Amino acid sequence: MTTLDDLPIRDDLRGKQPYGAPQLDVPVQLNTNENPYPPSAALIDDLARAVRQGAATLNRYPDRDAVELRKDLADYLGHGLTARQLWAANGSNEIIQQILQAFGGPGRSAIGFEPSYSMHPIITGGTNTRWIEGLRGEDFAIDPGAAVAAIEEHRPDVVFLTSPNNPTGTALPLEVIERILAAAPGMVVVDEAYAEFARTGTSSALTLLPGNPRLIVTRTMSKAFAMAGTRLGYLAADPAVVDAMLLVRLPYHLSTLTQAAARVALAHREELLGAVDALRAERDATVDWLRGRGLVAADSDANFVLFGTFADRRSVWEGLLDRGVLIRETGPAGWLRVSIGTPEEMAAFRAALEGVLA
Ligand code: PMP
Repeated sequence: MTTLDDLPIRDDLRGKQPYGAPQLDVPVQLNTNENPYPPSAALIDDLARAVRQGAATLNRYPDRDAVELRKDLADYLGHGLTARQLWAANGSNEIIQQILQAFGGPGRSAIGFEPSYSMHPIITGGTNTRWIEGLRGEDFAIDPGAAVAAIEEHRPDVVFLTSPNNPTGTALPLEVIERILAAAPGMVVVDEAYAEFARTGTSSALTLLPGNPRLIVTRTMSKAFAMAGTRLGYLAADPAVVDAMLLVRLPYHLSTLTQAAARVALAHREELLGAVDALRAERDATVDWLRGRGLVAADSDANFVLFGTFADRRSVWEGLLDRGVLIRETGPAGWLRVSIGTPEEMAAFRAALEGVLA
């Protein structure tokens, strides 16, 4: 049997592990930070209508530049943004890949502050960009002095900041982003996949876009928008950044059906974002419950909670799985991450955890 090692694969990919959040068919799935609420029957009808309409032209390529969708995304984000400042792709993972194709690559480097989103180093490696591991503090915050020192030492071409951060839930104050922007020699990407879940008083890096052409803010419809299956991510930045994306994107990367579905979802944003308040409340209640239970739980501005710490986190994770609850074994040693589900799912999580810890 042929194995990967037998193939003439790039040396830098040898021995690497693929992204691998388990996809298991269990009753309570709280492991990939999805929104637990499926679309309503009315929304499904509208989606079906839009797909039917799009289907009539499937012999033709889609709008290569997704202009109407980008207008809708600009309208959703507000902040005076226009379609020229928006770019969309198949999930924010593809957006991140395009950013690295344009601004990273062989001989270039990218830095992130860990623990953070595991795909940043994986996509960085995939584009043959060198990954530099910066660190967060004990409280999972980014110390601006330490971050600026690391940036001045390594001079990375791309800086990744994730706010709210995955898997810790930590939001970044704008002052920290501003200091890093001032120090960074290249592009600064603020990954705001979870922005809609932030607690009140947390500002988006979108407010920093005017006058900062090296700033890119990435977003997704996979989380708050409850559209993970659609695969639609996007960025907001200076129009020149969008011009850079046009150089590296594959022509017609965003299918007619994806563009149609995303536009319908944006038109129904009131419904789709309607669960965000409830998810936030459930998240805060989960943090309180975990702490009340004598565990440590990180403050969270996202739709998940990092908690621990366990001498053997694998056995806790497995114990929960045995009870039909799938969470994520990720983050620093000893910690686990639970995505926020429906009240029923969170009750099942609490009951299962009680059972495991009993
Ligand atoms: N950024 C962060 C911080 C994430 O946690 C995720 C998904 N887990 C993504 C980006 C990618 O999401 P998508 O490709 O579905 O937009």
